[in-house]
Amino acid sequence: MRNVSVIIPAAGSGTRFGAASNKIFQPLAGRAIFLRSIDLFAARDDVCQILLVISSEDSAELSGRFGEELTALGVELVEGGDRRSDSVRKALTHLDAGAELVCVHDAVRPCASPERIDAVFQTAAESGAAILACPLHGTIKKTDPSGKILQTVDREGLWEAQTPQVFDRDLLIEAYALGGDATDDAEMVQRTGREVIVVASDINNIKITARADLVPAETIIRSDR
Ligand code: C5P
Repeated sequence: MRNVSVIIPAAGSGTRFGAASNKIFQPLAGRAIFLRSIDLFAARDDVCQILLVISSEDSAELSGRFGEELTALGVELVEGGDRRSDSVRKALTHLDAGAELVCVHDAVRPCASPERIDAVFQTAAESGAAILACPLHGTIKKTDPSGKILQTVDREGLWEAQTPQVFDRDLLIEAYALGGDATDDAEMVQRTGREVIVVASDINNIKITARADLVPAETIIRSDR
């Protein structure tokens, strides 16, 4: 059943990346990063809608370079806001009437595997709220602002949140209607008191933040996963 609406936030400035235009336009193994993120969902039988959230500064370049392709992929454009949470909140006002689940996936995570996406969709369908996350394997230190170590944090039960993050439509709308800001959608939903389930992922679902991230991302894209 086509009942999942996908929101792809892409309205960040990407200043940490150091490119003249938004990093989402950068090619990754020959295809723009944000198009690779869209590709993860465009051919799925369960997806009814893809909303790409884009800043007004990027809209001319987007339409000029990628307009035809986005039309062919059936992607709808939404203008973003100042913070990621504002961008998602705006996209929630454009949901397809038939959408029962909403999947939020950052444009800068083009390497998510189909199996992981299947798993988080499945868990969200059963529980109403699920995210991909990667267990922490390193030794975690907490410091003061000068860099002096204050403590070693027990990593048991610690995860780094990723996207996709998938929720019942009404739950996500309720969560964002409460207002406020957070760096992910799960935190917004947690504030409603509802449980959110973690589905184990791995470091291959890399977030492209700096130019150096393109190298491992390209290796992942070119590997037979
Ligand atoms: O800023 P951060 O790295 O957390 O951004 C994660 C995703 O959210 C990126 O794909 C970025 O383009 C998007 N974003 C957005 N609107 C903003 C800020 C970030 O859609 N105002």
